[in-house]
Amino acid sequence: MSEQTPASSPPPSSPKPSGKPVVTQSKMEKIVALCKRRGFIFQSSEIYGGINGFWDYGPLGVELKRNLKEAWWQDIVRCPGVGADGEVLDMVGLDCSIIMNPKVWVASGHVGGFADLKVDCKESKGRYRADHLFVVTNRTDSGTSLMFAFIAGDEASELKAQKRLSKAEKVSLPLLTEKYHVKPLTSIAVSEFHRIVSPDSDKPGTLTEPRMFNLMNQTYVGAVQDEESKAYLRPETAQGIFVNFRNVVDTSRVKVPFGIAQVGKAFRNEVTPRNYTFRSREFEQMEIEFFIRPDTANEWYKYWRDARFAWWQSIGLSSANLQLREHDKDELAHYAKAGAGTSDIEYKFPFTDPGFGELEGIAHRADFDLKAHAQHSGLGDNLKYFDQELQLKLQAAGVPKEEIDKQVKYFPHVIEPSAGADRGTLALLCEAYTDDPGRPSGVVMKFHPRMAPIKAAIFPLVDKDGMPEIAQKIYADLRKTWNVQIDNKQNIGKRYARMDEAGTPFCLTVDTQTLQDQTLTVRHRDTLQQERIAISNVRQFLADKIG
Ligand code: ATP
Repeated sequence: MSEQTPASSPPPSSPKPSGKPVVTQSKMEKIVALCKRRGFIFQSSEIYGGINGFWDYGPLGVELKRNLKEAWWQDIVRCPGVGADGEVLDMVGLDCSIIMNPKVWVASGHVGGFADLKVDCKESKGRYRADHLFVVTNRTDSGTSLMFAFIAGDEASELKAQKRLSKAEKVSLPLLTEKYHVKPLTSIAVSEFHRIVSPDSDKPGTLTEPRMFNLMNQTYVGAVQDEESKAYLRPETAQGIFVNFRNVVDTSRVKVPFGIAQVGKAFRNEVTPRNYTFRSREFEQMEIEFFIRPDTANEWYKYWRDARFAWWQSIGLSSANLQLREHDKDELAHYAKAGAGTSDIEYKFPFTDPGFGELEGIAHRADFDLKAHAQHSGLGDNLKYFDQELQLKLQAAGVPKEEIDKQVKYFPHVIEPSAGADRGTLALLCEAYTDDPGRPSGVVMKFHPRMAPIKAAIFPLVDKDGMPEIAQKIYADLRKTWNVQIDNKQNIGKRYARMDEAGTPFCLTVDTQTLQDQTLTVRHRDTLQQERIAISNVRQFLADKIG
């Protein structure tokens, strides 16, 4: 049976207190309300009460998200910039199936590693089965007192928790029994976790929320539903790229360093989907696996980290709301410990404010994935990259054959910039949302023109005197290139208000003067300034502004 949430439920608040909950929550509520009212985002299967962790993009939302994904594809695959080596990046795209041979997920570690509902201690790095943890607390819980966690069945752990409670309550251990209360961790709301001292740390609030370690959604392929036909919806797009590494190298002219990019759906059975689309169970990723020589990892890692950070700014996220967070060594995945690093590009969402939430991760994954697939598929060294150019160079330089063989056949290392299209879209919505009591709409969505769902609106000032015909002609021309709208309903103020809420950067009004001199009025969304331009220049005007 599916989990359901009421269609009108506000986004759950962040587990961390923001310091200013009323203001930030109400901003998020306003964004959610606008998204529904104007058709950016709807709850999935809303008429049946929705389904937790799944969202639909409405007419404006789908344009916004497409603009984000298309800008990414354009800037990453079609027209990438210059890389760390001073050469134009060598990039190709891929579109893999969502369901793959389940062996892929065995090799990647997802099948073996994803099993139970777990909580982690951020301080001690201890990991516990959520149903194995209990807490001791005082009987008359005031809602503020501390709770001390212990591992069920571990006497030493339980005693430690009791001692801590007796100290906190200032009662001797023998007398504690009267005040003593034991509860399973699973009965405690995540919002109360800040009061729990984990078994192996000294301060409260270090336990993460419980997470199902096996986050993969299962399905069956074929007529029979048994172990043999079990398959998974991919939890990331990356593995499709790794398993196609050989195919891409053999069929395109890429040479290390080069990248393979993919945009596509991923599915994770998140234990607690929350914060609107931020943590969904179905979402889209925009991932790059960039294959490099191992000795160039540091420079390529820095290149991608900085290039990706700059890209988010280029599409309108302000630097004040973005931060680059380098992971500490002890946060890193085991294969990344010796590597160039891992960092997250984070955005200050209203529900994380004053903190930040991950938008994209950039990781040096070394050769972990290719080697794992080489081993599990039985392809072994056949999955290695062969650098023929280097071979010829070394031969010409008289390098001994043994040394050449070592250098020219290898598993490339990988730098992986992995971004979320839904979190990106949410960040664009949050960034754009601007209260403006001075406008009839009371709000304006200040999207970067490249991201704006509607690029321009064309208004005939009145529904007569040939104005609708001229507007129609302009509309018919511009729509061949951009998503534009024509609107002749209600007065001009109401039309502006509709476009302010949709975040349309330019409104083009055909008026009396147009009939005389073939110019129209351009109204700029953010500054409210108006200027006149010739109809013949409108195309160029929009091209310059939208890019
Ligand atoms: P988190 O720590 O927030 O769970 P993650 O580190 O597991 O994220 P990755 O596996 O690195 O995320 O996935 C890459 C990107 O995919 C993330 O930066 C994020 O933008 C997006 N993403 C991951 N999980 C979700 C989700 N449940 N809902 C929406 N987007 C997601």
